[in-house]
Amino acid sequence: MATLVTGGAGFLGSHLCERLLAQGEEVLCMDNFFTGRRKNVAHLLDNPNFELMRHDVVDPFKVEVERIYNLACPASPVHYQFNPIKTVKTSVMGAINCLGLAKRVGARILQASTSEVYGDPEVHPQPESYRGNVNPIGLRACYDEGKRCAETLFFDYHRENAVDMRVVRIFNTYGPRMLPNDGRVVSNFIVQALQGEDLTIYGDGSQTRSFCFVDDLIEAMMRTMEQDQTVGPVNIGNPVEFTIRELAEQVLGKIEGSSTIVEQDLPSDDPMQRKPDISLARKVLGWSPKIELSEGLDRTIPHFRQCLGL
Ligand code: NAD
Ligand code: UDP
Repeated sequence: MATLVTGGAGFLGSHLCERLLAQGEEVLCMDNFFTGRRKNVAHLLDNPNFELMRHDVVDPFKVEVERIYNLACPASPVHYQFNPIKTVKTSVMGAINCLGLAKRVGARILQASTSEVYGDPEVHPQPESYRGNVNPIGLRACYDEGKRCAETLFFDYHRENAVDMRVVRIFNTYGPRMLPNDGRVVSNFIVQALQGEDLTIYGDGSQTRSFCFVDDLIEAMMRTMEQDQTVGPVNIGNPVEFTIRELAEQVLGKIEGSSTIVEQDLPSDDPMQRKPDISLARKVLGWSPKIELSEGLDRTIPHFRQCLGL
């Protein structure tokens, strides 16, 4: 089976390419290298079933594939706010281009949507039926609304053109191959602790997130693609909830050094709580995450040690 992975040189994309190749599939990895890196997939370049293509999903493209995973989009607030208009274009025009391709070649297509479609949620934990609480004009809107519009396009192409599609809503995921300057909380805390810098908690650290290790996430994404019980959206993530302060304390407990915790201003529209209701994923995918935060951190810290040359 030939599979296109857009955003394939990124954090999640590179793990997905690796897993698909291990299953014997042909993988076409497309990336504009905004937050992705060639070195994330360098170990795959010798595989005859792997092809790397520098291309921007905003520009149309034609390839012959049977599966499309659409992951192209910066995921860290720091990076998606760097050029917010481009972020909207990537989500919306990228979805249109991928869906147009899926329609033409009859491919099945999966959208990497996000828990950000729930915004700063007033329902907790978040089931797929919750419609969210997003500020359409805030600093996070380029990402949140871009991803919401992409979901709309997926469902409209499905209803109007019978495009065979799936949507997953991914909750905070971490692991090896995140960039040291990614800007998301797990990578920031580990890098700060390894460098002996203080860990920067935004606000008082009472906001919560639920952290999923990358291997669990990729398994759920691939299972969603290959099942026929639902087109989604399906929440995928780890339902164990931590405050950001608890995360900082766990990281400090694992990396000895002189770092302490400092508080900085909370960015606007930062969601106060987030935790997936994964009942649907449990039912239709027969899946639940296996790797606890502590083990996942142990498997992630060596990657950052290596990146930092420590
Ligand atoms: P990432 O930034 O590492 O990966 C995104 C990839 O997309 C990068 O390789 C980047 O270069 C590429 N890209 C960006 N704009 C592009 C464009 N216009 N054309 C082609 N390629 C482009 O982030 P990630 O964590 O691997 O996220 C992958 C996908 O999963 C994203 O769509 C993100 O929104 C979604 N997601 C991730 C998480 C998470 O916690 N990791 C949570 C929710 C959703
Ligand atoms: N955060 C933090 N310190 C950091 C980076 C992030 O306290 O150095 C907080 C951030 O304000 C948010 C949470 O950690 O409340 C998760 O942030 P991240 O950017 O990882 O993901 P998202 O907000 O998109 O869930």
